[in-house]
Amino acid sequence: MRDGDDIGKMFIDTHCHLDSYERHSGETLEGFFERLPHDADPKVAMPEAFIHVACDPADFEYAREVSEKYPNVYTAYGIHPEYVLTETAEDEARLVEFLKHPKCVACGEFGLDYHYDLEHREEQLKLFERHLQLGIESGKPLVLHLREADEDALAVLRNADLKGKNVHVHCFTGTPEFCCQMLELGKAKGANIFVGFTGIVTFKNAQNVRDAAALTPLDQMLLETDSPYMAPIPYRGKPCHSGYIPYIAEKLAEVKGVTVEEIYRYCRENTRKCYGI
Ligand SMILES: [Zn+2]
Repeated sequence: MRDGDDIGKMFIDTHCHLDSYERHSGETLEGFFERLPHDADPKVAMPEAFIHVACDPADFEYAREVSEKYPNVYTAYGIHPEYVLTETAEDEARLVEFLKHPKCVACGEFGLDYHYDLEHREEQLKLFERHLQLGIESGKPLVLHLREADEDALAVLRNADLKGKNVHVHCFTGTPEFCCQMLELGKAKGANIFVGFTGIVTFKNAQNVRDAAALTPLDQMLLETDSPYMAPIPYRGKPCHSGYIPYIAEKLAEVKGVTVEEIYRYCRENTRKCYGI
């Protein structure tokens, strides 16, 4: 039996962008799903399911269609901070409708990203606050994109009613201190915080992310790719897909000093706790 056959049944990619993967790789989703179980790399494995994240209102329709076509594709709907200047009230109204779809398991990703754009922080903050409220009202888990905006993110989250909420801090790229602050905020607020780790955890220059993983409890970790971005080593720079999760799981096992089976077992259970799948 190939490695992948066994492992593949044990994980869900909790955060990927299947439409962007199609665009970046030139592969159709149908072709990708068909060939993934037979990849030449025996480590590559087919996930049990995918959470496809639609974070541009223009892509909501695609997300609904793929989730209705494939039983193992679930969706999250949100508005990424990069659309802060083009986002309209109509987009928000549509978002609320899409969040009611039966295959939708979360609201997001939304949040703050100060990496590229220093000019629109005020607008990003307002959008973040509105979407957080909207997400809370939807009753769904929240998927947060927080990048280089630690202080502002914490300030907004401290003001929110997160009691009993499941929160996925996705594609963690921050400092171990920020990771600690998020975990503590969860405790103080009675929220269930889960930290998502991508291929970045394998990058040589990402010791901060490994340090954050080291202090994240096993029962608060999620496996995700953020496909088509952040392909793990040895695929760094190539279009990333969900089949690369075993490389991320292996690195997390090394960082946590546990077996890779433990990582799969915890992360699968955490996915159930966070997303209900
Ligand atoms: Zn994403």
